[in-house]
Amino acid sequence: MAEIESKNFCAFHFHNSSDGECSNCGLAICNLDQQYDLQANRQCQICFNLTRAKKIARYMQFSLWGVIISLIVMLWLLLRASGNTFYAFLPALLLLIVPYLLRPVLMKLYFRDLAPIESILPILRYFEGTGNMDHYKLFLRFLGKLTVEDIKTIQKPLYDYLIPALAFNYSKLPEGWEEDLTKHLQISKERFIELMVKDYRTILIQTAVHSAQSNMALFIFYLSEAASDKDLIKEYIIETTSKDVMKLNEEEVNIIYKHLLEDLYLYEDRFLELCDELGLKKQKDLLIQLIERFDPPPVPKNQIEAVMSSDQLREKRRKEKELAENPIPLEIEQQTEETQ
Ligand SMILES: [Zn+2]
Ligand SMILES: [Zn+2]
Repeated sequence: MAEIESKNFCAFHFHNSSDGECSNCGLAICNLDQQYDLQANRQCQICFNLTRAKKIARYMQFSLWGVIISLIVMLWLLLRASGNTFYAFLPALLLLIVPYLLRPVLMKLYFRDLAPIESILPILRYFEGTGNMDHYKLFLRFLGKLTVEDIKTIQKPLYDYLIPALAFNYSKLPEGWEEDLTKHLQISKERFIELMVKDYRTILIQTAVHSAQSNMALFIFYLSEAASDKDLIKEYIIETTSKDVMKLNEEEVNIIYKHLLEDLYLYEDRFLELCDELGLKKQKDLLIQLIERFDPPPVPKNQIEAVMSSDQLREKRRKEKELAENPIPLEIEQQTEETQ
């Protein structure tokens, strides 16, 4: 898997083998990375920059408050005569706007003292983990700064990092992402698709089944269509209904294969149609079994529940059920009434 391979080389200096990892984020680092935090733990350049950037962000926040308060006072004094003092509070809106505008600036600080070629793998790892589109945009910017030679030398680790990152975050990618990305990668769209379905086929199918993220099925559907490769879906469904998955009980499968089951449930019609089309009769039955085992997240009943995560909501329902099955004994209830 890409995961294991990428451990061998430094995430910042892909030509160097790694001799440890960042104590903060876990990215692989090498003897060229010699930054330490206050506790003398070894850190990568980004985590080191992050600490400094946070300090700068705090100063900026204080200054912003200072500016806003002075503006409000000034406007209030000016508007006092007209009686429209309400408008004096408009500068408070800057609290919403300025941090939004400053986000890209802060993000640039994270990559201070790093050349684009050194930043490219870490930013991909960040994008893979967070799905934050700011990371993706920054990745494209760094990529745009590389020469054809640079891209050639970094190609293998670049694709090893890039392809899982795309697969994990496919549903967030903007329309026309392939054109944009392949232009930056200086490769044709056809060649890029071919590379994914040929060189990364096994990794993609294994990841899409055994370490799936939400909506990863859509990425496999997309690839199969783009490459006119129906076998890709066939292999994906066969792996999904393999013994490793089917042998698990309801609770296990809902924990280990949570995202896979979610996708099966969400795109059930499409999966079953594909089984018919590809002549996967046995697998269709198994898919139906899996979907039956899926325990969908509870539906929120009120405003408070609407902001809870599905895991929190599940836990709440479990407690409610427990309480309904074992009501509080009568004596305790009476006692609490007396104390009230
Ligand atoms: Zn780090
Ligand atoms: Zn390094």
